This record gives sequence, C-alpha cells and structure tokens, in this order.
Amino acid sequence: MSTYDVAVIGSGPGGYVAAIRCAQLGMKTAIIEKYDTLGGTCLNVGCIPSKALLDSSHHYHDAVKHFEEHGIEIPSDIKINFEQMIARKKKVVDQTCDGVAFLMKKNNIDVYTGMGSFVDATHIKIVGDKEETIEAKKTIIATGSKPATLPFIKLDKERIITSTEALKLKEIPKHMIVIGGGVIGLELGQVYRRLGAEVTVIEYMDRITPGMDKVLSKELMKVLKKQGVKFHLSHAVNKVERDGDTVTVTAKNKKDEEVTFEGDYVLVSVGRRPYTDKLNAAAAGVKVNEKGQIDVNEHQQTNIPNIYAIGDVVRGIMLAHKAEEEGVFVAETIAGQKPHINYNLIPNVIYTWPEVASVGKTEEELKEAGVNYKSGQFPMRALGRSRASGDIDGLVKILADKETDEVLGVHMIGARVADLIAEAVTAMEYRASAEDIARMSHAHPTYAEAVKEAALAATEDRALHV
Ligand code: FAD
Repeated sequence: MSTYDVAVIGSGPGGYVAAIRCAQLGMKTAIIEKYDTLGGTCLNVGCIPSKALLDSSHHYHDAVKHFEEHGIEIPSDIKINFEQMIARKKKVVDQTCDGVAFLMKKNNIDVYTGMGSFVDATHIKIVGDKEETIEAKKTIIATGSKPATLPFIKLDKERIITSTEALKLKEIPKHMIVIGGGVIGLELGQVYRRLGAEVTVIEYMDRITPGMDKVLSKELMKVLKKQGVKFHLSHAVNKVERDGDTVTVTAKNKKDEEVTFEGDYVLVSVGRRPYTDKLNAAAAGVKVNEKGQIDVNEHQQTNIPNIYAIGDVVRGIMLAHKAEEEGVFVAETIAGQKPHINYNLIPNVIYTWPEVASVGKTEEELKEAGVNYKSGQFPMRALGRSRASGDIDGLVKILADKETDEVLGVHMIGARVADLIAEAVTAMEYRASAEDIARMSHAHPTYAEAVKEAALAATEDRALHV
C-alpha cells in the first residue's frame, strides 16, 4: 500500500493548488480525482468554459453592434457557427486541464483517478478502473460543489438545465428563462442574449446580485436591460414544467399574482451546494453540517485533527481564488508555518460586459454596522480611455472611513474592472487611505484612472474630471 504525507481529495483550484504547495514544501503528495480530467468545476464546467463563451459571444456582439461605428464594414449576413464556438471552448478547457496534469507531474504528485472515500481517518479507498487503498498521514478534502436546485424542480439536463449543460448546448435557445439573478445566471444569460436568444431572468429578491453593493446591482441591471435582457424581480418561482420542447415557469409576484413564462430552455442558477456524496466522511469521523458543508475551524481543520477541508465544500464564498488561498493556507499550516487569509479582501467578480468587481464592505454593510463612512464615485463615461473604446457604462465607488480615510470597500462596474480590482485589494491589504490611492500616478489613458478619480472624490470631493 502506498503511503503519503498528504492526500488531497478533489482536483479543483482548491485541491490541485494545495497539492502543489504541499509538494513544494517537501511532502509526499497524492491527489485523487473522480473524473478523467483534473481541474474540478472551475476548469471543466465553471470559470474557464464560461469565460471562453463570454469572450466568443462578446466578439460576435461587437461585430454586429459596434464594428460599423468604428468604420469596419462586415457583411450583413454575418453568421454564428455555434458548433465551432463550443468546440473552441472545449479546446480551451482541454488545454487548461492538461496544464494541471503537467503541474502534477512537474511537482511529483501522484494522481489517482477514481472516487475517493474514507475507510478510516488515515486510509482512503479509490474506486476507478481498479480499486486500491492508500494511506495518508494528513488528508485535505477539496470535493467542491454541485449546482443546487429547488425542491420542486426536476432537472432533466436537456431543457431544464444547470450551468453545466448551458456550457455545452447543441443550439442557441430561442428563449432562455434564467431562474436566479446571481453571477452564473447573469454571465450565461448574457452569453445567449448576445447570440440572439431572448433571455428572461426571474429573481426572488428585489434586486439582482443581492450580495453586492446596491449601486452595482442597479447599474448592471440597467446595462443588461439595454442589451435586451428582461428582468422580473421579487418573483418566487413555484413550478417548472416541460412539454416537448417547451418549458413553462410559474412564479408568484409581489402582489401574490401567478405569472407564467414560456421558453425553450430553463437555466436553473439558484446557487451551488457543497458536495460530499460518496466521500464516506463518517468512516473517518468527519462532521458534515446541516448545510452539507464540512465544518472547519480557523485552521481549516475538521473535527478530526489530521483531516482538513477547503474551498466550496466549507463555509464562505464559493470562488476559485478563495479555494486556492485555502489550499495554500492548509499546506503551509501542515508544514508548521503560520499563514493568514484576509477573507474581507477576497474580491468578487462578475464577468459580464461591463464587468463587475467588488472588495471589502458594501455601503449596506457599513450602514448596518454603524460605521461612519464617506463615499466617492466616478463615472466611466468621463474617462478618455472609455470614450476611445466606446465602453462608457459603469462607475467606480470607493468607501472610506470618515475619520481615518482608510479604504473600506471598492465597488466597480465597467470595462476590465475584473483586473482593476487587484489595485483595490493591494491598497486595502496595506490599509491605504483614499488619499494614498488618489496621490498615486495612474497611467493615462486607462480605465484605472477611474479608481484614482473615485479616490479623489472620496478624499475631499476632489475628482478632477467631473
Ligand atoms: P471544485 O472545483 O468543485 O473541485 C472539486 C473536485 O473534486 C471535482 O473535480 C470533483 O469531481 C472532485 N471530487 C468530489 N468528490 C470526490 C471524491 N469523493 N473523490 C474524488 N474526487 C472527488 N469562481 C471564480 O472564482 N471565478 C469565476 O469566474 C467562476 N465562474 C464560475 C462559473 C460557473 C458556471 C460555475 C459553476 C462556477 C464558477 N466559479 C467561479 C466557482 C468555482 O468554479 C468554484 O468556486 C471552484 O471550482 C471551487 O473549487 P474547489 O476546489 O473547492 O472545488
């Protein structure tokens, strides 16, 4: 029987990063993945394929809507080759997954393909083409999550689908009904809207992206509406039915009236649930809580001291980079180091266009906590860079402590803000004041100037270009 210092169950961004860091720190490491490809949700059916389709559909949308104003004439019968779009996405995914396999080899990490389940706290059975058991002094559970649904919805994975199927459809829907106005529903909704589908988003809450600063929800909805996405907020879906190629969604609105929507696809994007099926956590004595998550302490340690858990399967926001941070954290903890994660500074991003990005506290959170804060805002349309590219939608908002001027939250919507948020994370990690950001030179013309201007606005209402 092979024996390891560390075995990692699950090869998503949490698991594979944890394995690499363990190997870097000199531990003999194994990784177990039930699927044939490494990379987990993120690489196979999450972050990467969704971004590939967002990019492809963005190119098409630009060609149809914006090329002419740039003086580029294209034939009026420009067509989508959807099969090629999906094939390209698959190629991107394959290359990225191969990259992880390469990294495992490079770091001398043994890869086991098969379903991993605990025999006891130090032994894991792996059932794949063959069955074998390995011994591990320490185990990191990184089994991730699966799409959640509502109790009355029967997913048939053909017409009533989750994000996994939406990433590999065989045709462009005529009318896609999206249940849930969160990040996944909006990203995939925008993909199909750009490709010509009618898209209707039904959201239970009174705004989309409920966890984000209100100003972002409002602005994003305004822009998506302009692009033709229809929204029905404060609607509680209570029935989803399929009859042949037609799907009907029934919901109750605020006035308690029943409203029905008819389409050819329903995308159920109501969140994700932690995944521990078949892990046999009980055999190791590991506690799974009522939400299905593995309970961990501040060291990511389960109730069984030699077993840790990270990523989507534990508490906290379900994001790839959060899982990665926890992967590194656990590896370093096992190695006897004292790592640290600042959960307040995990950025949250939506890759629609315009992009949306956020870090730190929202205005609603500051209000609720009774913090004395000030706010500075700057519109993207006032930037030379935005005018040059035509990406004039959006804004940057900076919230800072009224007395100390320390930046407490940064919220952005606009071109390339998924990348711009890194400046805010860095500034906040070093506890910068709004004036610190305002006094740093930002290249001109860039979208990043909006961050400087919002910081100037937050400092003493000193924005220069509005
Ligand atoms: P996962 O990536 O879910 O990996 C878990 C792995 O464990 C899986 O491969 C699974 O097969 C394996 N596994 C489970 N049980 C066993 C077992 N018993 N034995 C062996 N293997 C097992 N996040 C972002 O940060 N940015 C984005 O842009 C983004 N876009 C997304 C788009 C979509 C459509 C979706 C669905 C998600 C997106 N996410 C994004 C979320 C992101 O994918 C997850 O937060 C991230 O993958 C979590 O990583 P993880 O390592 O915890 O788990």
